[in-house]
Amino acid sequence: MEGFIFSVKRYSINDGPGIRVAFFMKGCPLSCMWCHNPEGISPLKETVIQTNRIGTREFHHREDVGKYYSAEGILEILEKEKVFLNQSNGGVTFSGGEPLLQFDFLHETLKIIKENGYHTAVDTSGYSTAEKFKAIIPYTDLFLFDLKHLDEDKHKEFTGIPNGVILDNYRILIESGRDIMVRIPVIPGYNDDPDHLKRLRQFLTETKTISLKKISLLPYHKIGLSKYKRFNIPYRMKQTEPPSKERMKELKEYFSETGVKIKIGG
Ligand code: SF4
Repeated sequence: MEGFIFSVKRYSINDGPGIRVAFFMKGCPLSCMWCHNPEGISPLKETVIQTNRIGTREFHHREDVGKYYSAEGILEILEKEKVFLNQSNGGVTFSGGEPLLQFDFLHETLKIIKENGYHTAVDTSGYSTAEKFKAIIPYTDLFLFDLKHLDEDKHKEFTGIPNGVILDNYRILIESGRDIMVRIPVIPGYNDDPDHLKRLRQFLTETKTISLKKISLLPYHKIGLSKYKRFNIPYRMKQTEPPSKERMKELKEYFSETGVKIKIGG
């Protein structure tokens, strides 16, 4: 069994506690308008033309995006970083794309690396079946769970799918006893109006259990824009500007009324 992965990030500090190795898995059932990993959306291998410049000269070469890894191959990568991971109370994170789209590989790999003593995290859009989530709960120490919009129609408009299944899975995980960190992308003009913020704060407060360890507010940014050009994907959010630092501080204050630790950024 192999998993199809488009990026491996060693020494990551934004994908869970401590220093982590993050594996970005290819394929996502959502297509968020603001996605900063558009190369992770298609489950297929893609080829891009990379341009390197030396002085005034440009060199082009083709590059395949996506590579197959076995669970043992993942373990080998982790073994090389073991000292850093252990000393920093870090571990391994599966992100994407949507890791649960490659469920069999994810399940097998989480099991093996958990048996080898690593802290495991899954960064998920929440869109999969309840059965699949329940099957990985025993091998996942932490879920990084995205909440993008609570209105079903708006969720569909901005991400391509409705949010019912996602909210059902959130309720399963928040009752599971595993740690959860919620991630809210703050997208000006899309999910930051007063009504939605109020609904979101209420939802987080009402569903809260001791599992909910942190809420991260992720400010919209345009860092992924160059990837859209490289992958020849139209970027639909050219008019949207990142929220200001003051606005993010305001939101941090606003969500701190949930009684949960709030962080700006991952
Ligand atoms: S869920 Fe994440 S990876 Fe998938 S499209 Fe949305 S932002 Fe991109």
